[in-house]
Amino acid sequence: MTTFVVAIDGGAGSGKSTTAKGVAQRLHFFYLDTGAMYRAFTLKYLQYRDSEHISATIDIETVNILLTKTAIDLRQENFENHVYLNGNDVTVDIRTSRVSSFVSQVSAIPEVRRWMVQQQREIAVGKNVVCEGRDIGTIVFPDAQVKIFMTADLRVRAQRRQKELAEQHGESRFEDVLKNLQFRDNYDSTRTHSPLKKARDAIVLDTTHLTIEEEIAAVENIVRERLHHQ
Ligand code: C5P
Repeated sequence: MTTFVVAIDGGAGSGKSTTAKGVAQRLHFFYLDTGAMYRAFTLKYLQYRDSEHISATIDIETVNILLTKTAIDLRQENFENHVYLNGNDVTVDIRTSRVSSFVSQVSAIPEVRRWMVQQQREIAVGKNVVCEGRDIGTIVFPDAQVKIFMTADLRVRAQRRQKELAEQHGESRFEDVLKNLQFRDNYDSTRTHSPLKKARDAIVLDTTHLTIEEEIAAVENIVRERLHHQ
């Protein structure tokens, strides 16, 4: 069965999630949020660390053991996307600032990436998907029919993220949000294993001056055009 993959990569807060979700909904594709998966495993690691009172430095052996005990499930329920970690709904818990400030370090571990990529490819089997992350067009789905690389001005991204966080968790300071985006982008782009990078054949979409509606429409048009010529 031939399936269609839309790969959307970009920095934190670039509009990937909103766009990917919107495009998936309109085209009835499966929305595969890989960032949510890295966040869910980070949450698992932090919970384990709290319960066992182990040190702050990441211990690879513990990571490997935890990976064998991890099940992440992305479900679409009542038009909403939910993330389950070993059967528990962690959709909200994975967006806390604690997870956000730790997720890049966990995501840089090669064993974690290998595990994630395998899971992501399995999830996509037999489906048409809109998949978003950092390494989708380069590593996870290098043969994706459509590849988009989203960018936006840092301050605009921080404003968007702050608004989102305010809706989910209450107030958050603009400077803290901006620093976290900067930190993650730098960490994610300079890591050795599958860094955040534009695929050679990706279309760049700068969303600084676009509304959500315009972002979604731009990607939707590109996808429809490709689907038409399949
Ligand atoms: O997409 P989101 O901002 O929720 O991703 C959280 C973090 O997960 C990123 O900052 C990055 O460290 C990691 N990530 C990754 N590869 C992906 C998706 C996310 O390393 N494909």
